[in-house]
Amino acid sequence: MSKTSKKDLDNIKEKLHLRQRELLEEVRDEFDQRENQHLIDLMSREPGDSGDYSMADEVADLNIALADRQIRELRDIDEAFARVKDGSFGSCVDCGAEIVAARLLVYPTAKRCLACQERHEQLYAQEGRPTL
Ligand SMILES: [Zn+2]
Repeated sequence: MSKTSKKDLDNIKEKLHLRQRELLEEVRDEFDQRENQHLIDLMSREPGDSGDYSMADEVADLNIALADRQIRELRDIDEAFARVKDGSFGSCVDCGAEIVAARLLVYPTAKRCLACQERHEQLYAQEGRPTL
């Protein structure tokens, strides 16, 4: 059994932090003219696994319709941090198998192994397809 190494995990957490920061900056850019104090407060906070609050919820509270994509991705990042915290990070949520570190390094928010992800996407694609 090849557990994600400490080094890989540190690397992955670093990537998650960076991506979270990028997303918040994208949101800030979209929201720039409004000088929203809440957003400024949010930006000055340390993101990531330092607290129990959800960065995604904080951003969602701002009611920025434009930020839907960012909110979705921030949610994935929040979830990834939660999994790091409870020790389930790196295990597939569907089958429980170990997700290979190489995959996590590319997709730090991956929560399924490749096989389950493909199955999930097929199901999802079918759900999204209009039935004639
Ligand atoms: Zn799986």
